[in-house]
Amino acid sequence: MPLAANDPNRSSWLYVNKSSDFPIQNIPFGVFLTKDDIITIGTRIGDTAIDLGALHQLGYFDGIPLTDDIFLQDTLNDFIADGRKTWRLVRNRIAEIFDAENPVLKNNTAHKERILFRLDEIEMKMPVYVGDYTDFYASKEHATNVGTMFRGADNALMPNWLHLPVGYHGRSSSILTTHIPIHRPQGQTMPEGATKPVFGPSKMVDFELEMAFITTDANDLGEPIPIEEAEEYIFGLVVFNDWSARDIQKWEYVPLGPFLGKNFASSISPWIVTLDALEPFRVESPKQSPKPLPYLQIKGKQSFDINLEVGIIPKGGKETTVCKSNFKYMYWNMPQQLAHHTSNGCPVNSGDMMGSGTISGPTEDSYGSMLELTWKGTKPVKLKDGTTRTFINDYDSVVMRAYCENDDVRIGFGQTKTQLLPVFGKK
Ligand code: MN
Repeated sequence: MPLAANDPNRSSWLYVNKSSDFPIQNIPFGVFLTKDDIITIGTRIGDTAIDLGALHQLGYFDGIPLTDDIFLQDTLNDFIADGRKTWRLVRNRIAEIFDAENPVLKNNTAHKERILFRLDEIEMKMPVYVGDYTDFYASKEHATNVGTMFRGADNALMPNWLHLPVGYHGRSSSILTTHIPIHRPQGQTMPEGATKPVFGPSKMVDFELEMAFITTDANDLGEPIPIEEAEEYIFGLVVFNDWSARDIQKWEYVPLGPFLGKNFASSISPWIVTLDALEPFRVESPKQSPKPLPYLQIKGKQSFDINLEVGIIPKGGKETTVCKSNFKYMYWNMPQQLAHHTSNGCPVNSGDMMGSGTISGPTEDSYGSMLELTWKGTKPVKLKDGTTRTFINDYDSVVMRAYCENDDVRIGFGQTKTQLLPVFGKK
């Protein structure tokens, strides 16, 4: 089916600023609460939120096989479960409805009043119910940097790393959307030079710059997904800040991997940008050597050129950009991750979230965590207000943004912005 919604020559009768992440070629999906306290599934063009539930009730999706209440839900899981053909029909129809040449809704004031909202009239909610969350460790630069710090340069990459996309199962219960503050976690750590562990507030709260992909119902128990088919089961992506407590992580991670240092919070951007919308931005993945085993081999452009950035905002202060990276640096691509994840027959369901792992690039300003940017706290980062950071302070906010851009179009993700509050219960 043609991706008519991606036509770069189309413009909308809705106003779209030139620098907007959300031109009519994007058409992301999200869930929001309206000013009338109604929760609905929607999309966004420019700074206008569009109620898909209302559009559907008014007949604008006639001819597309959708259940009556598909958009009147508090998550996208059922819509995502409808599969890629339906996502494409809906995105193409939305592009038609809002095309500058189409007067039908444009000239219907009563309908527009039900369907269109300003951003300050809505509140973004979690777009999906995340049943299962897996986090990978797929950037070679990040794995090498962290391995060097924790184990020394000679043991930086473990023997398995170049042969499979390493990952772990995280907790979906603490995945949050933007603007929900989190608390500094407490936990058990072994301070440098101490002989006994202590319990208390983490002193090394960090971000991890990641993207996450969201899947549809992919396979039955026991059924692997062949790598060539993997993309069919990927609905779209969000920006993903995988909050981490490095001191807790360092003490607890042997031998089973990440646990309480990682599962206290992860913050996502609220609009899911579809894999289809990212189509113009395909690029080659980094060359893989040694060649992966056959079930992980895939040809073609399997990565995406997505610019990424992280900013820190002190309480009441200005934002300082501390990192610029790119999704294309990922050594293991999404089809490889999904094929590997299901190679043993593990079922993947609609709304599952797969974190990419921290996305670090080759240069020091492209490292995707404070751990790397400050090299374990030895090289503090200077902020615009003159203060320095080795990790994240109480009341700092961390902002992550992602966007793709070429001569024709800019497709962005908006942002996820989260404030770190002191330990729970303390003022
Ligand atoms: Mn992570």
